[in-house]
Amino acid sequence: MKIEKLRISDQAVTLSEKIPVASWDLDSPDVRFVGDIAVTCSFVLAGSEILVNGQVVLWRQIICSRCMEESKQEVREDFLFNYALDEIKGDYLEIDADVREQILLGFPMKVLCRPDCKGMCPDCGANLNQQVCDCGIKLKAPEKKKKFNLKVSGFTGPGRDKLTKSPDRSGCGRTTKSRRENGSSKKATF
Ligand SMILES: [Zn+2]
Ligand SMILES: [Zn+2]
Repeated sequence: MKIEKLRISDQAVTLSEKIPVASWDLDSPDVRFVGDIAVTCSFVLAGSEILVNGQVVLWRQIICSRCMEESKQEVREDFLFNYALDEIKGDYLEIDADVREQILLGFPMKVLCRPDCKGMCPDCGANLNQQVCDCGIKLKAPEKKKKFNLKVSGFTGPGRDKLTKSPDRSGCGRTTKSRRENGSSKKATF
């Protein structure tokens, strides 16, 4: 999006534009942008600066890094830029590069289909958002017996606490998650 400098005054001017997303080269291996980028901005002159207040909306197709499902998500970024009048070369103010950077800055480190995605069972591959598998129970049974015997021959107190304590409930990693599930299924079968 660009605007002629002469058009910008202390009365805000609003512009909207749709840009084909392919022309901005935003894709990464697990994120593909689709459709158009919709940019809406208001431009206003404030002293020796141009203030640009805007919003960009676009759509991306992602592969969730936890459950590997594909999903389509709307991306919406608000921004406020300011440009010193005497630093703008030529007759036009061109903001595309800054809007593009804003989109990239808002990019998550890990793409997820939803913030609380439960991920995939590491054993049977079930999508745990859609179903509950019993892998945790099957796997945990023999190991549990062993630990129990150990405990019986030794002291009873602190070992048990250590076993039942759940390590981390933040749920941000697959390992943490399955450990926690195993922990609770252990209790159930016993
Ligand atoms: Zn997911
Ligand atoms: Zn499973």
